Amino acid sequence: MIYIFCAPSGSGKSTMVKHLLTRYPNKFELSISCTTRAPRGQEVDGREYYFISPADFEQRIRKGDFIEYEQVYEGLYYGTLRSEIDRIEHEGRAVIFDVDVKGGINLKRILGERATSIFVCPPSIEELSRRLHARGDTSEEMIEKRLAKATIEMEDAKHFDIQLVNNDLESAFANLDKIVEAHMNA
Ligand code: ADP
Ligand code: 5GP
Repeated sequence: MIYIFCAPSGSGKSTMVKHLLTRYPNKFELSISCTTRAPRGQEVDGREYYFISPADFEQRIRKGDFIEYEQVYEGLYYGTLRSEIDRIEHEGRAVIFDVDVKGGINLKRILGERATSIFVCPPSIEELSRRLHARGDTSEEMIEKRLAKATIEMEDAKHFDIQLVNNDLESAFANLDKIVEAHMNA
């Protein structure tokens, strides 16, 4: 099984993915994307991303290595490697994709029934603002930009198989468990 997770920044996508990885050990694995941005903080090449040069990225585009790729931020490219699906499925685990909303819609279009696409929604833009402020790692200017982007991204929720509202955390976890357990038992 393949799961595609998308959400406006701060909606709780990482929280949901982390929940799956800990609640079901050895059942899921995150696909590692390529990016041309530099590593941040404790990030390690081959763990969070494959950090590659723009020239390398272009060569991989030409070779057809990517299922999809996107200039997510100005001048910074992110791409999903075809080889990740094979690698993770070979280990007998379900694949998790964590990509931007456009990339998620593209992946679902390409993978069809093989994938379940999940859009993690905040209960409201006001609550999203509260969470981004509470997380304390994003500047006021970036928060304003992300809230404006979130309002637009919410329009795309309807293109996803599942809209998972992350209001009360325990209820959101329970709803997610129900979705994946239905697939595991199918
Ligand atoms: P994303 O990966 O979508 O950017 P995160 O998972 O980092 O979002 O969540 C953003 C912040 O909101 C984090 O500080 C997280 O702990 C908090 N958070 C996530 N879900 C909830 C929730 N249901 N209620 C309150 N706070 C939440
Ligand atoms: P960050 O730089 O914060 O790690 O990620 C920025 C954004 O890029 C996030 O929304 C993340 O989901 C998205 N992203 C990461 N990998 C890919 C990918 O392979 N394709 C696309 N389209 N987006 C990606």
